[in-house]
Amino acid sequence: MLSWEETPSISSMRWERAWVEVNLSAIAHNVRQIRTLLPPNTELMAVIKADAYGHGAVSVARTVLKAGASRLGVATIPEGIELREAGIRSPILVLGATYTPEQLQAMSRWQLEPTLCSPKQALVFAESCRDRPIPVHLKLDTGMSRLGVPWQEAAQFVELVRGLPHLKIASIYSHFATADSPDRAVMDLQHGRFRQAIAQIRELGLELPPLHLANSAATLSDRATHYDLVRVGLAIYGLYPAPHLSGAIALQTALQVKARVTQVKTVAAGTGVSYGHRFVTDRETRLAVVGIGYADGVPRHLSDRMQVLIRGGRVPQVGAITMDQIMLDVTDIPQVDVGDVVTLLGRDGDETISADDWAATLGTISWEILCGFKHRLPRVAIAEERRPRESKLRS
Ligand SMILES: *Cc1c(COP(=O)(O)O)cnc(C)c1O
Repeated sequence: MLSWEETPSISSMRWERAWVEVNLSAIAHNVRQIRTLLPPNTELMAVIKADAYGHGAVSVARTVLKAGASRLGVATIPEGIELREAGIRSPILVLGATYTPEQLQAMSRWQLEPTLCSPKQALVFAESCRDRPIPVHLKLDTGMSRLGVPWQEAAQFVELVRGLPHLKIASIYSHFATADSPDRAVMDLQHGRFRQAIAQIRELGLELPPLHLANSAATLSDRATHYDLVRVGLAIYGLYPAPHLSGAIALQTALQVKARVTQVKTVAAGTGVSYGHRFVTDRETRLAVVGIGYADGVPRHLSDRMQVLIRGGRVPQVGAITMDQIMLDVTDIPQVDVGDVVTLLGRDGDETISADDWAATLGTISWEILCGFKHRLPRVAIAEERRPRESKLRS
């Protein structure tokens, strides 16, 4: 697999059949936009789990740290180690669950900061952490019903962890379940519980550690949730968690998915196309075969339900999406030829297709679309200022 460092420019994509282009300038722009919503002393944690939502964790980490984020969030220990091995030194919070002594030792060794979700985990970690103190982040469950100590037990939990050697409480946090909904009832309930838990911790007479609660949706919609730090994923990549949140700031999408036409042919009316012949032409049809398929992350459920961009126009994909290839009906754009670049997600001329469009067709969310592109697709970083000049195979 090609790493980012080995694919510094679009020219190295000349021979690739398909690839993901990531605009790091857009990501930097989004970080600066998000920062305008935050008081100067509120930190921005860029959530770059799942290979930065498919954008490439290391290059996104470098970009966001330069643009105004001060911390990173990952889901797993290997995700954190990848960043450390690339020389990234900022604080890194592991948002996911960890619970064995071996995991604690790995986090200690790589200076990754664990989330503490239960008294038992706290005791295991205190027992296994002998050499140096480790910063820990206490997670409260205020209504997501996922990781965390029940919010009613927050004060008890803080007392327990305070009493354990080697564990240093670096923050207390919780996570919203419905912050992207226009109906604020559950979000307000969760925020109320978080406040109550904090009040109880304060009653113990302790100095409060930093607090955090907001994901992208809460960061965009409610300044009262910002506290000392916000944990932003989706918005960094230029997507809005919901349409009603798109007014706050102007974000730019960063990811484009492209592939090349590999063969063009004309077939008669009444010709079946692809596996199962689920599509049959109703006129003489010019078909373009494109070198990308479901093994690259194009969902097979989009078969006959997606369009792509080519030569600045929009054409339908036809027939079943196969593992490595798709077919297009390009009858209406006769100039289409082998080597042409097809945009599956992104912009070509005045036309745009977004992860939100695919998500709407599939009945899912843009988060899942972004994470869905497989590592068979090389990633290439581009800067907005240097618009890539596409070169054709035949030239
Ligand atoms: C993934 C995640 C986030 C980021 O969520 P977005 O909606 O993408 O901003 C924040 N906090 C936690 C705990 C997460 O797991």
